[in-house]
Amino acid sequence: MKSIILDEIIVKGNRVDYFFRVNGKIQKYFKHSHHLFFEYNDDVSEIPISILTIPFVANVAPLAWITDSLVSVAELDESFHDCLSNIKEAYQNMYPDVLFKGEILASSIVNNSYTPQYEAAQLFSGGLDALATYIRIKDKQPLLITEYGWHHNEINKSEVWNQDKKHVVGFAKDHGLENILVLSNYGTFLNAQVIDRDFLKKMGDSWWHGLHHGLAIISAAIPSAFKLNVKCIYIASSYFEGYKAKCASDPTIDNEIRFASGRVFHDGYDINRQDKVKVVVDYYSNNNQQANLRVCFLNKENCCNCEKCVRTIIGVVAEGKDPRNYGFNIPQDLSFHIVNFLEENVKFFTPARVMQWNLSKKRMIENRDNILYKDLLEWFLDYDFVVERRKSLLKYRITKFFPIVKRKISTRLNRILTQNN
Ligand SMILES: [Zn+2]
Repeated sequence: MKSIILDEIIVKGNRVDYFFRVNGKIQKYFKHSHHLFFEYNDDVSEIPISILTIPFVANVAPLAWITDSLVSVAELDESFHDCLSNIKEAYQNMYPDVLFKGEILASSIVNNSYTPQYEAAQLFSGGLDALATYIRIKDKQPLLITEYGWHHNEINKSEVWNQDKKHVVGFAKDHGLENILVLSNYGTFLNAQVIDRDFLKKMGDSWWHGLHHGLAIISAAIPSAFKLNVKCIYIASSYFEGYKAKCASDPTIDNEIRFASGRVFHDGYDINRQDKVKVVVDYYSNNNQQANLRVCFLNKENCCNCEKCVRTIIGVVAEGKDPRNYGFNIPQDLSFHIVNFLEENVKFFTPARVMQWNLSKKRMIENRDNILYKDLLEWFLDYDFVVERRKSLLKYRITKFFPIVKRKISTRLNRILTQNN
């Protein structure tokens, strides 16, 4: 039987280490160390084992389900245990081509409860989605939870994390909030590439994006939320109601998660990405704080060159604002920069990307009189992403493909000529 067995949890001060065994054909999906850890900026040693087991189960459960394996632990919180079947069912609905089987077995199911002391905690990266959610729930004074899950077996120095930390600690200070900081290796303890090799095609999405990251990120916050008696953990949505997407973090999954007396809410699903930009710029227009959006993935600062940076820059421009005031050190000639960006990148735009860029374009048309970059208006409003994508892809294929064909023809020609000689 394929199984993942939690052998030992070592809790020491701020840190929890999990050591486990893997049996059967699923061993290839795990790094050899069979070790997962979390380190918090607060003592976790008094938290019940049945609660501390949640992050472990959450990180391996989806893998157990798609590989029909067993997860075995000594103790598990009852609320979390009971919500697992709903989560499994929700993933099954999202990925109808993969069978979700397998089982989570706990020798002892423990009832934990508390009277909430904090209304809200929020997973907070400092990016656009998280900032919009913060603004929407700011009256609840959420605890801000920020994580870095890309360590390897041990905690390594990370410039990215140092910058993230500096940013969120500063943000909390400016807004009179508290930080919960979590370091982990949840992003690296599995062989995601091997899982993708076997499942990407069937799922139509990668392991990390499609199944793992939502539960990993949310569950890492649960021990702290338990300790501080938090009523609800908020996670900002990346997608919105009007656009169904496959994603590990989805309202049909996140809103099912329960732990002790706490729950989870997937926030912002009712508004699209451009609406979120508006929430953020309106908020900063009405107060004197310096806005600093952090959107670039695993980067010290916004590079202004990647798709996510450029898309957010366009979103801010569409609201009639200067991206320089929102944490983007953009080049002098923004219109030229966007032209170059699209020339290189539009061919890689997925339908989801086209949809998002069109939201900004639509807003720019409505808001035309307030746009600060007039030269951008001259061409961007007529830019057809679908047509340009097709053209660019064709050009790309011809320029890449033609030399190959030419080479093949000349090799064959040479061969014929040599044979005839
Ligand atoms: Zn970037």
